[in-house]
Amino acid sequence: MSMDYSLPRGTQDILPDEINYWNHVEQTAKHIFSLYNFNEIRTPIFESSNLFNRVISESDIVKKEMYTFTDKGNRELALRPEGTASIARAFITNNLSRAPQHSKLFYKGPMFRYERPQAGRYRQFHQIGVESIGSDHPFSDAEVITMSYRLFTSLGLRNVKIYINSVGSDTCRPVIEARIKQFLASNLSQLSENLQEKFKNNPLKILDSKDETLQTYLSGLPDMREALSQQSKDHFNFVISYLDHLNIPFEYKPTLVRGLDYYTETVFEVVSEDLGAQNSICGGGRYNNLIKNLGGPHTPAVGFAFGMERLIMLLKKQSIPIPKRPVLVYIAALGKEYQMECLNIAEKLRNNMINVTIDYSKVDFNGHIKLAQKMQADYMIIFGEKEFESKQVSIKNLANRHQDDVPFAGITNYFQTILGDAHV
Ligand code: AMP
Repeated sequence: MSMDYSLPRGTQDILPDEINYWNHVEQTAKHIFSLYNFNEIRTPIFESSNLFNRVISESDIVKKEMYTFTDKGNRELALRPEGTASIARAFITNNLSRAPQHSKLFYKGPMFRYERPQAGRYRQFHQIGVESIGSDHPFSDAEVITMSYRLFTSLGLRNVKIYINSVGSDTCRPVIEARIKQFLASNLSQLSENLQEKFKNNPLKILDSKDETLQTYLSGLPDMREALSQQSKDHFNFVISYLDHLNIPFEYKPTLVRGLDYYTETVFEVVSEDLGAQNSICGGGRYNNLIKNLGGPHTPAVGFAFGMERLIMLLKKQSIPIPKRPVLVYIAALGKEYQMECLNIAEKLRNNMINVTIDYSKVDFNGHIKLAQKMQADYMIIFGEKEFESKQVSIKNLANRHQDDVPFAGITNYFQTILGDAHV
């Protein structure tokens, strides 16, 4: 029997060609988050299964998709399917409630769900998320929504839409559920088995069904904001007025409910019309009871997470340019006897923060230039017998073919002058 070393289903390698997109998104996110004073937190990739079992309810599909395993010490562990539960756990474990200011955190990393793979849906995927923990002020909701909007627009994305809704507090929830049930009761027999089960166990989840006939029917649903308590109404209205004040374009979407059940009050989603079936890039909302439910102090919080793979798909689809990698200098030794000298030049340039590559297998001009072009180098330093005798190298701009002779001692200076500060 031959061994199967193929890539596990639903995973992918991210190759150097692709990584510029990843770095660009991660750096932009980090930059935007720091403008709002959000700081990075890193938590383990696996946690006790109980953590996710506690925060993800039975009706959430994510629960059935969890990668769980027993370790050699018989501990029940799970690869994290999402970030919020881990951050809430870390908040409690590390007593972050004692911090002087409320905790504004961001994280990035792989998440794992045993889903049926398709375009934009993987078993290992990557999220970047933020959690603003410790404030129940609607300004915090507006702040994270604004931050997500700023991030996606800074990346240059077009046709991005923000949908928002409120699912109310614990006390509103039964009222909302009763209204949904009342509205659907007479048509119950026409619903699919799956929807009938949701009707019984978690009627809120019916609202975001992809079933088109149901969606048409749901457009007649009475305004659910009426079912909210005064406090929840006020909260939601404040969020909306802050977003209006900040000129953030959003749309109220009464059928928006999030996949995970721990949300209270504000929920929101960022979608793109350009993504096809899996059109959601980012989702989030408020979760006022989660930390308390995990045994921590009562701590209201709000956050969001977005998927890297989907976001990068969208950047490509919209042909959004990303910053080029730094200038690369290729050094070509035309003969083995010049390789040592080339090595010195390379190290000197690297000391000055200039990226350099040398290939020691090629010793002729044609071999070098072909390789330099293949590597998409920007400049080529040529060092052969002529250069050795005249004590100056030839530097070729590989884009426009322009060539200069530069004395050994002036090479660093040459690049510093043409690159300015751009390469730093
Ligand atoms: P969720 O944690 O389900 O609210 O998802 C938040 C975001 O993560 C989504 O908007 C997607 O961009 C991304 N995402 C969720 N599940 C997957 C998956 N299986 N593969 C790729 N991206 C995903």
